[in-house]
Amino acid sequence: MEILQDYSLEELKALMEEYGEKPFRAKQILDNVNLGKSISSYSNISAELKEKLLSRFADFPLKIHTEQVSRDGTRKFAYELSDGNIIEGVLLEYKYGFSLCVSTQVGCRMGCKFCASTLNGLVRNLTAGEILSQVLLVNALLGGKAGKLRKVTNIVLMGSGEPLDNYDNVVKFLHLVSSKDGLNVSPRNISVSTCGIVPNIRKLADEKLPIILTISLHAPFDELRKSIMPIANKYSIREIIDAAKFYFEKVGRRVVFEYALIKGVNDSFDCAKQLALILRGFPLHVNLIPLNEVKERELKTVNRKNAEQFAEWLTNMKISVTIRRTMADDIDGACGQLRNKIENN
Ligand code: SAH
Repeated sequence: MEILQDYSLEELKALMEEYGEKPFRAKQILDNVNLGKSISSYSNISAELKEKLLSRFADFPLKIHTEQVSRDGTRKFAYELSDGNIIEGVLLEYKYGFSLCVSTQVGCRMGCKFCASTLNGLVRNLTAGEILSQVLLVNALLGGKAGKLRKVTNIVLMGSGEPLDNYDNVVKFLHLVSSKDGLNVSPRNISVSTCGIVPNIRKLADEKLPIILTISLHAPFDELRKSIMPIANKYSIREIIDAAKFYFEKVGRRVVFEYALIKGVNDSFDCAKQLALILRGFPLHVNLIPLNEVKERELKTVNRKNAEQFAEWLTNMKISVTIRRTMADDIDGACGQLRNKIENN
């Protein structure tokens, strides 16, 4: 079945023309979509049009399957899609609003050794509307509307999946969610996180969307990176850094590098020194994340002191760095952990 959330205002207008309806109906439908409503609850269209829509479109693309609340207030959702597949999302509250982490694929085929999302490979890509619906649903749940009244102000594409492995749907989502006709989330408040698919980083730079690019580096040496991230066999660190510089030059936003600290693997002074060396010369920021241990994986995390030591080494070498709080590790906070628990039950 199709979903209305995949449609832009222009596309809805074309649909209304096909149905012999007035073009203004398109905006009425989109207003409902933006409120996160299911078709059967639309109140401003005729019963006849509703019937027509329901014969072709899913009432709503997903529903909340499970919700967990962490001690720190972080909420984690498992959503069930129309085909029964499960994806995840994490909601964080900040001073200025809510930040939602969304999934872009069911599963993932990148095979990173520390990540739970990739344990069973890729099941399928999400459509733009399925990614958008995660935001619509949670925004509505929080009592938010579109535009200035939205509750979800920030979005990170850091749930399950590799966003740049589902490029067209992700870019369409970015346009839909930031559109004046849609929720109107500022692209400046949206982060796309990638394991480093170089050609698509360059392509993204040309989209003229001022979003934040986040690159999961996790190792400063190619051989070490290959041992934890199979994508490193395809693209070297040099190529990734060059693409990141290109992104900065085109888009004008500093690039964020994610570095998950794994005990005895990438937490040495040598690694910090090499990281500072390769990241020199353009505006960037490093986010250190003490590894969220995944029970199916052998890799171990570092303690707070190790993380602070690593951060200090980088600071001394003039690299801008923060340690990200380990989010919600009491509620299966790491990518893919909740889904795996549900699917294994
Ligand atoms: N595929 C995208 C998004 C993945 S999730 C990417 O690779 O960037 C977002 C971040 O969480 C990535 O930096 C990813 O490497 C990291 N991550 C995955 N599993 C983790 C774990 N168990 N502990 C800490 N970080 C993890």
